[in-house]
Amino acid sequence: MSRNTLRINCIFFTELEKKIKSLEEEKSLLIERCLSGEADVERLNEIISELKRKLQESLSALQELGRENQSLQMECAKQQNRKWKDDSIVTACSHCSKEFSLTIRKHHCRMCGEIFCNECSSKNATIPSSKKPVRVCDACYLENSVK
Ligand SMILES: [Zn+2]
Ligand SMILES: [Zn+2]
Repeated sequence: MSRNTLRINCIFFTELEKKIKSLEEEKSLLIERCLSGEADVERLNEIISELKRKLQESLSALQELGRENQSLQMECAKQQNRKWKDDSIVTACSHCSKEFSLTIRKHHCRMCGEIFCNECSSKNATIPSSKKPVRVCDACYLENSVK
């Protein structure tokens, strides 16, 4: 090997070393970036699963509300279907069977629509269709106060 070739080789090696060093730096930079990227992805995944959980919660709350709405509508229809009894065919209190007369007057229960004497319908209750308390029979009073 001539002196000249040795010099050239030497320069070549130095260049190569420099290049390797810069590649190493680039590599560690890339690894760092990759790691922080992974952390980002992990964070995003956490956010996504949190959002999914919230969505699921909202959906089940919505379903619950839908069911409640349905049962309320049914209850409402049931209340509206309760018609007042025709008092001309009723001759006695639906509860105690006391015959109605001039002194024992007929009273409608505003909840079930049945006809009662004064004693069996002496209570008042607040019902959904009226703001003021209305006359109800004892049974409806109990049913209403349980709710
Ligand atoms: Zn009665
Ligand atoms: Zn009643």
